[in-house]
Amino acid sequence: MITSPAILKANILIVDDKIANIDLLQHMLQSAGYTSVASTSDPFEVCNLHRANQYDLILLDLQMPGMDGFQVMEGLKEIELEGYLPVLVITGQPEHKLRALQLGAKDVISRPFEKFEILARIYNMLEIRLLNREARNQSKTLEQLVQDLQKQIITDPLTNLFNRRFLQEYLPREIAKARRNAGSLAVLMIDLDFFKKINDIFGHEAGDVVLKNVATLLKDCIRESDVACRYGGEEFVLVLSEISPGGAKKKAESIQSAVMGLALTIRQKPLGRVSTSIGVAIYPDHGADMDLLLRAADEALYEAKENGRNCVVVSEARNIRHG
Ligand SMILES: [Mg+2]
Repeated sequence: MITSPAILKANILIVDDKIANIDLLQHMLQSAGYTSVASTSDPFEVCNLHRANQYDLILLDLQMPGMDGFQVMEGLKEIELEGYLPVLVITGQPEHKLRALQLGAKDVISRPFEKFEILARIYNMLEIRLLNREARNQSKTLEQLVQDLQKQIITDPLTNLFNRRFLQEYLPREIAKARRNAGSLAVLMIDLDFFKKINDIFGHEAGDVVLKNVATLLKDCIRESDVACRYGGEEFVLVLSEISPGGAKKKAESIQSAVMGLALTIRQKPLGRVSTSIGVAIYPDHGADMDLLLRAADEALYEAKENGRNCVVVSEARNIRHG
C-alpha cells in the first residue's frame, strides 16, 4: 500500500522554459501538500538532474527553445533502464498528444488545464510509480533471499566452506567433466589428528577456533578452480582439478606443514600444534566414480592414521605397498 504522506513526499521536477508556468505549477503543488518540488527552465539540464535525483515525476513542457520535450524524453530513456518514463507532458498543442504518448510519456495534459484534474492525475501517476518501485524492491528482496538460501544449503555454517551436500553434487559433475576431457582430478581427505583432545582439554570453543582457522588456510591453499568442503566433524575434503598424483601429494604435504605452522590460541592460551593425516585418491587412477574415489581416499586416510598419523598416503602408493 502506498500512503498519501508517501505520495506527497515524492520527488517532482517541473520543466518549462516559461518561469510563469513553473511558478503556477509549483504553487499549485505546494498548496496541495507536495514537499519535494524542484524546477528548471533549461531542458538541457533535465537528464543530469534526473540522474542525480531520480524523480518520481517530471512535469514536462513540450515547446522549449534549443531542445524540445520530445528530445528530453529521448535522453531520459537512456537513463531509465527499466524503460519507465515518469513523465507527464503539459502542452498547449493538443496535436502533439499522441506523439508524446507514443514516445513513452505516461500522461498528457493540454493547456489551459483544470487545476483539480491535473492534481488528480499527478496523484494517480505517483501512486502507480511508487507501487511499481515497491514491487520491484520486494522482488529484489525475494531474489536475494532465494540466493542466500541457495548458498546456505551448500555451506557449512561454522567454517563457511562448502558442505558434504555440495560435494555430493559437485564431485560427480567434476568427474564427468574430467572424463569428457580425458583429464584428472584429485580428492584429498584431510583429518585433524587428536582433535577430540583439543575439545577435551580446551573446550568446544577451542575446537571451533581450530576448525575455522584450518578452513581459512585450506581455502587460501587451493586454486580458484579447486573446492574445499567440510566433510564431517574434523574431516575436510579438497577436490583439485587437473593435477597429477605427484602434484596432489606435494599439495597435501604443503597443506600439512602449513596447518602445522598455525600458532592458534584461545584467551591467550596456546592450543598447541595441529597435525593432519591426509589420504589422496586420483581420478581416474584410483576410482571411476565418486563413491569409489571417496572410498579410496578414505582408505588412504585410514592407512595414514595407522601409520602413526601426521602423514600423507596416496591411494596408489598404498596399493603398491600392499600389492
Ligand atoms: Mg514552452
